[in-house]
Amino acid sequence: MSEQTESLDRVMLIAAHPDDPEFGCGGTIAKWAAAGKEITYVLLTSGDKGSRDPNIRPGQLATRREAEQRAAAAVLGVKEVLFLRYPDGLLENTLTLRHQLAAIIRRHKPHILMAIDPWRHYQLHPDHRAAGQAALDALWSAREWHIFAEQLDGDEEPWRVKEAYLFWTDQPDYYEDISETIDKRIEALACHVSQVGTDREKLAERIKERSRKTGEEAGCEYAEAFKRFKF
Ligand SMILES: [Zn+2]
Repeated sequence: MSEQTESLDRVMLIAAHPDDPEFGCGGTIAKWAAAGKEITYVLLTSGDKGSRDPNIRPGQLATRREAEQRAAAAVLGVKEVLFLRYPDGLLENTLTLRHQLAAIIRRHKPHILMAIDPWRHYQLHPDHRAAGQAALDALWSAREWHIFAEQLDGDEEPWRVKEAYLFWTDQPDYYEDISETIDKRIEALACHVSQVGTDREKLAERIKERSRKTGEEAGCEYAEAFKRFKF
């Protein structure tokens, strides 16, 4: 099938914390979902340390943040949200995680993988580095015949993801015009009350300013930026 006629309609987004997908590329998710793409989120942690309140217990916070993430995903039209529940702030790109993600990729067979750019200079958050690296290592493993071969039963073939889009990149080479879906992005972000508070206007201002700057690079009103790979 030629590149023009092949439809890349299954998308998997792998990220470290609830709210990463919406801060990273919520406008693109909304646009792609509306265009009929089937989108699955894989959240590696449930963000159980994401609070400055010393009295809140990590378990309570994880439950709350998973609910916030499900609500945000529903606003954007995401089909499914998976939580792997690794500990927030302590995520490592281990072989166990790579094995687990490769199995998920082989089971869901996404055409497009979205992930955090692990090579962004001065990416301070260890979970963001680990999540990006783990996602891409799993993408590579999933397409190899002899890596985690026990995951392939019968005549099942390894799965080759066709494209990867890395967000939070400092080397963008692809822009998605999100002028039509900027409001959806803000509405989805507003679901993450434990992280963004309840001042919707302030949130909208911040997101619009950021998306407008990216839009200037892209030549449209609002945009999101990616480093794109085609395989
Ligand atoms: Zn994060």
